[in-house]
Amino acid sequence: MSVNPIKRISVLGATGSVGLSTLDLVRRNSHKFKVVSLTAYSKVEDLSALAIEFNAELAVIGDEKKLDALKEQLAGTGIEVAAGEVGLIEAAEREAEIVMAAIVGAAGLRPTMAAVRRGATVALANKECLVCAGDLLMEEVRVHGATLLPVDSEHNAIYQVFEVERANSVERVILTASGGPFRGRSYESLKAVTPAEAIAHPNWDMGAKISVDSATMMNKGLEIIEAYHLFPIKKSQIEVVVHPQSVVHSMVEYSDGSVLAQLGSPDMRTPIAYSLAWPERMEAPVKRLSLSEIGALTFEEVDLEAFRCLALAREALEAGGAAPAILNAANEVAVAAFLSEKLRFIDIPSVVSDTLALCDIKAPQSLSNVFEIDKVAREAAQNQLALRAI
Ligand code: NAD
Ligand code: MG
Repeated sequence: MSVNPIKRISVLGATGSVGLSTLDLVRRNSHKFKVVSLTAYSKVEDLSALAIEFNAELAVIGDEKKLDALKEQLAGTGIEVAAGEVGLIEAAEREAEIVMAAIVGAAGLRPTMAAVRRGATVALANKECLVCAGDLLMEEVRVHGATLLPVDSEHNAIYQVFEVERANSVERVILTASGGPFRGRSYESLKAVTPAEAIAHPNWDMGAKISVDSATMMNKGLEIIEAYHLFPIKKSQIEVVVHPQSVVHSMVEYSDGSVLAQLGSPDMRTPIAYSLAWPERMEAPVKRLSLSEIGALTFEEVDLEAFRCLALAREALEAGGAAPAILNAANEVAVAAFLSEKLRFIDIPSVVSDTLALCDIKAPQSLSNVFEIDKVAREAAQNQLALRAI
């Protein structure tokens, strides 16, 4: 009988919602994993507590100003420390079978790419990476023989039911969307919503940025782009349906009319456990699904007038080139401004669409090209904010 070897794992974005859920599973299965690197942006105390608990080899803080504080917290523990983007890349490059890429936003792109380039198994939560550099990232995955396992619940569901060797028989991929906290609301009624209302997601407990993206439905738009890069399908084959219970996590339709879906309670520890244990399965302490308790699963169309961000993301995917990267950068700027009460909720799509109209969408040829595009788009979006200041 063979004994499963211990898997070495690094968690980028360890202090966030996905990072903490990952470490919760590692804690419950400590005999199966050895933690290598842990990273965070600014929460020094949380990061050092995790690094000590999991006896990590390396702890990295994104914000360089916090390096001294991190050194102080970890003095005498033998845990190595580093900071800034160089440190984040080092964390991803350390030898580990699995890298959980759970940094939020384009900031996760270089570290994720570093893990891909050493052929690691990358559990990808950081969807913004694929949105801003999908072609480049997928090419590097191929060249370096890396394995990309989608952690996003919809894409993880699709991954579980998509028969890659029969891709020609796939007719549609149907992404489900909860509809977020403002499902059913009119455009007019969204004018005065606050950040607190926007981040109160009905089904999922997530970081602030993705929660706002769910409220605007930009999240589903980013996920259309993510699905396009992850699976061998055409843009026109990706559809979205609103499913408020978040039980059916997404579906694949085949040419014989069969529709395969993955179901489960809305708890990220299921797709995370799938990614950590792949190609095996492991126990996850999630509420077991009781369909009789839930009673009814419902589905409805998206209201594209109230939730313009979804249409904008689809347009950016159609336009191709740099458009998705520009969309992502403008959205990151707009969401941050909304969260700090400098922009109205309903102005998020207008900042994104005006930024897209102003920037050149010539396709990026390299990673540094992507960052140039990202920078220009952020500046253009900042100017758009100034025009709409509250
Ligand atoms: P979060 O805000 O809770 O955590 C983000 C993590 O990234 C934190 O550890 C933070 O310290 C780190 N970080 C933030 N900015 C950084 C920077 N500039 N440099 C380095 N590190 C930085 O976010 P989350 O909800 O855990 O989401 C993480 C990613 O996973 C996002 O891309 C999100 O879209 C995706 N995702 C999340 C969920 C979910 O349920 N939370 C579901 C699907 C996909
Ligand atoms: Mg999702």
